[in-house]
Order: sequence, then C-alpha cells, then structure tokens
Amino acid sequence: MSISLPQKLAVAIQKNPEGLLKTAVDFAIRAHTGQKRKSGEPYVTHPLQVGETLIHWGLDEPTIIAGILHDTVEDTTVTLEDVERLFGTDVAFLVNGVTKISKIKYRGAVEAQVENLRKMILALSQDIRVVFIKLADRLHNMNTLGAVAPQKQKRIAAETDEIYAPLAYRLGMHQVSGDLQDLAFPYLKPKEYAWLTKTVPEQYEARIQYLEAFKPEVEKILNENGIQNYTIDFRAKRYSSLYKKLVAHDMDISKIYDLVAMRIIVDSTANCYGALGLIHAHYPPLPGRIKDYIAMPKPNGYRSLHTTVFGPEKTIIEFQIRTREMHEENENGIAAHWLYKQKQSGIKSPHPHILTQELTWVQQLKTWQEHIESGKSPDEILDTMKIEFFKDRIFAITPAGDVIDLPSGATPVDFAYHVHSVLGNTCVAAKVNGKFVALNYPLVSGDLVEILTQKNKMPSEDWLEFVKTASARDRIRTALRGKENALTKKHRPQKTEFKLTVISRVGLLKDITAIIARSHINITDVTSVGAGTGVSNVIKIVCDLTDTEKAVKIATKLKQLKEIREITHRLVA
Ligand code: MN
Repeated sequence: MSISLPQKLAVAIQKNPEGLLKTAVDFAIRAHTGQKRKSGEPYVTHPLQVGETLIHWGLDEPTIIAGILHDTVEDTTVTLEDVERLFGTDVAFLVNGVTKISKIKYRGAVEAQVENLRKMILALSQDIRVVFIKLADRLHNMNTLGAVAPQKQKRIAAETDEIYAPLAYRLGMHQVSGDLQDLAFPYLKPKEYAWLTKTVPEQYEARIQYLEAFKPEVEKILNENGIQNYTIDFRAKRYSSLYKKLVAHDMDISKIYDLVAMRIIVDSTANCYGALGLIHAHYPPLPGRIKDYIAMPKPNGYRSLHTTVFGPEKTIIEFQIRTREMHEENENGIAAHWLYKQKQSGIKSPHPHILTQELTWVQQLKTWQEHIESGKSPDEILDTMKIEFFKDRIFAITPAGDVIDLPSGATPVDFAYHVHSVLGNTCVAAKVNGKFVALNYPLVSGDLVEILTQKNKMPSEDWLEFVKTASARDRIRTALRGKENALTKKHRPQKTEFKLTVISRVGLLKDITAIIARSHINITDVTSVGAGTGVSNVIKIVCDLTDTEKAVKIATKLKQLKEIREITHRLVA
C-alpha cells in the first residue's frame, strides 16, 4: 500500500533521500501498518501530518522525527529503546515526553485546576519541543474530530479549548491558539455555532466589500507619503472569539468594530508609527481605542499597533499595523525563534521585544531567547530548551482528576494535607499509581495519589521529619497539640472522691448517699472497706463534682452524722 506524503515532508525527503527523516517515515509506516483512523484512513496519515505541521513551524529535525514517531511507542509494538537505538536519545526523549502527556486524563475542572493542569503538561514535557509536538498532534486531531464518537468529541474539544489553546496562547502562538479554539467551538456550542454561521457570513461579506472599496484610498495615502513595501490584507474575526465578544455586547453584531480589521504590514517599526499617523490624519480615531503593543507588548510577546477610526460614510474600522517580523512572531510565537534554518545558517537577528515582559510561568522562555541570541551552538541551545521553571515543583493528581501543585520531594502526607487537613490527619497509607508506597515516598509529576484514611486517626510525630510543605508541618503540629490537650483533658479531674472514716451501723451508707443525692450530685462509685458493723470502716464515694466549694458544703453536712469521725475529699480524674 502506498502512502502519499504531505507536501513539505515530501520536499524535505526529496532533498535528502538517504536521511534520518526518510528512515523515520518508513519506520512509522511499517509500525502503524494495518491501523486505521476513525475516518477509515491509514493511521500513519496522522503522525505524518504532525511532522508536516512541525516542518511548517520551522522546527528542528529531531522534533519533526519525534512528531512522526509520536504514536509508535504508545500504539504499536515499538519500544522506546527501538526509537533510541535508531534515532538517538534526543528523539527518544521527545517521544517519551509526548507519551507521558498523553496519559494525563482531562475530566473537566475549575479554572484553578485547569491552570495546574497546564503547568503539569509543561512540567512533564521538560522540553518545549514536546509541547510543540503535542500542539501539532492536537491540531490534526481537532481537524479530524468529525469522525470520532460524539461523547469523545465533546471531551476532546473541551480539553482543547481549556488546556491546549491557552497553552499555545501563552507561548505566543496566536495562529495555533485561534485555530484550536475555532475547531473546538462547533462541538462545544453547536447551537451558537449554527446561529453564527447563519448570521455572520452576510455581515462578513458586507464588511469585506466595504474594505475592498476603501483599500485603494489607504494605499494612495501611504504611497503619497513615502511608505513603501507594505501589504494590506483583511483579518476576519474568528467565530470563537466573535462569539465571546458578542456575549459581552448583547449579541449586537453592529457593536463589533473589528468584525473584519484592515491589516497593514510594513517593513520597519518607524513605518508602523508613520502609517498610524497618516491614518489618523485622514480618519478621526475613536478615543481610547489606540493601542501601542509595540512600546508595550502583551505579556505573551504580541506586538502591533491597533486603532479604530471613522472611515468613509462614518463607518467604524479597526486597523492593525505591524512589521513582517512582528507578524511572523505574533502568529507563531516561540516557535518563530526555533527556526530550522538556525541549524544551518547560524543565529537570526535578535528579537529583543518578544517575551521580555514578566510572565508568571513562561518567564523561562526569555532565558532561552537570550541564549539563542547570544550565539550559542545548537547543542547549547538544545540544553536551554529544557523546561526548568518547574524543576522545583511537582504536579500530582487526585483520584478525582484534580492536580495538586507541590514542591519537589513532597510526600503523600504533604499531598493529603494539601487536599484537606482532615485527610492529612486521618491518613494511614498511600497508593501511587495503584501501588502502596511509604508515607515518606517522594512523589514525581504525573503521579496519581490515593490516600487511605482511618477515622479518628491522629498524625504521627515522625511525619514532621519528612514533610516538605510548611502547611503540612503546621497542621501536624496543630493536630499533635490537640492530641495533647485531649490527653490532659482525659486526666483532668472530673470527679470528687470523699473518703470517710466511720463507725459503721446498719443504714449508715444509705444516709450518707441520701445527703449527697439531695444536693443533686450523681454518685458514680461507692466502696466500703472494713470489718463490719460497730467498728471503724473506710468508705470512699466518688461523684460527678469538680466544684471544691460544693464539696466542702457536702462534707460539712456529712459531718453532722455522728458516726462519721473523719472526712476528707479530693479531686480525681
Ligand atoms: Mn497522536
């Protein structure tokens, strides 16, 4: 059976028919022989398409090869050792990374959990190229989602929308992020999608016609003022983001000014501002809608000038003005910096703006960028592609699928206390990935942790020696203090014991207890030691009484009985 290769992959192999890429393609075709996609196509069309996308993104050969092999270890008889022997440790590492991520099961979660899930994917990836492969994989799966069972469609679409599209966005890959959201939208909101596709095309059509008519006027202004080497195109707003905006604007499509925007791409930053000035000189801008993302890039590195103006016939138009380089970076983000050609032709010119903003967890990307710009060899760059910003954190999963973010070296006890202090206090054993482990077992990212509990169990003091989180330590100490209190409470005097030395007679004991009972005090124990009637006996009476004053009163009353020679009382536990 012959498999036709995607275009870019075919070209790359033509250039080097004896190369490793060709070996990888043949290897994948053989490994996936007989397997089919849900669409009925040979399975290998999927990994080949992933490889094609990675070539399109300009990634290096190990990444492309790993993309082509990404499903072999999980879905065929091929082992990781086979991959390593034939394609080297780098490729094997990347394939293993993708396999690990595929094991994370998404079951839908609240926003904080989703964020942890994204972090966990990055932490498990250990190398940004693993994330690229996963994004290319997801892109193709979303493009072919129609063939999958409806229930699964919804789950994969939700995971794409909540995990992978935001991940791509954080990496500055707007094109991929937007594509993923658009592909997920019809599965997540079928009714809304149907409404949009019925309503919007007409609006789009009208807008584009208007802008086409307006375009020569803009070209004339730019040409007459010395701006050359520009291109103008139209950017139609994506359905998924249009829908979000419509919800915020009472579903009134006339309020969406950037339904279709006019995009001017120029050859220098100076010309960006030049073009902006010219547009404003001819068309009055709407106040408060001029955005300079060149001077102040978005946190994910996006750079462009945006403005909204009154065009001819007082129609509102949005302009986006940027250089080609900015445009390329805006669409492809971090991938734009990982260009295949860097391997051959050295280092690209610096892009000082991208990713220089403080990012919360993509800060490390900046460091890579600096490494790339500082002229290091590809091998050194490779080292810098390792995801290190989570090297101090691990992400473990609860049986319900929640992700728990912990410091590295954290144990099941830390995990239990992080979930809930009661879970920590009553924890007796732990299972990691289905196997029993010691409570001081160091967890690693991706571990599924199950805590076994016992009611009324108390934490052990030994735990303080191995827990890694301050919160677990504090809670253990609190619980131990509580335990001490409970102990002392047990031994704290609750009762009063009266010790009477008496000359015994018949009915004496009854008279004594009657006096105590009249004071509404409950007697819990009576013991009498002695030889019998007429001789000296010792009687001990224990009763529910802690009030010493009251005990004195009772003793005084009892003393009125002439047979009582001596009486003492004391508090007992
Ligand atoms: Mn796949």
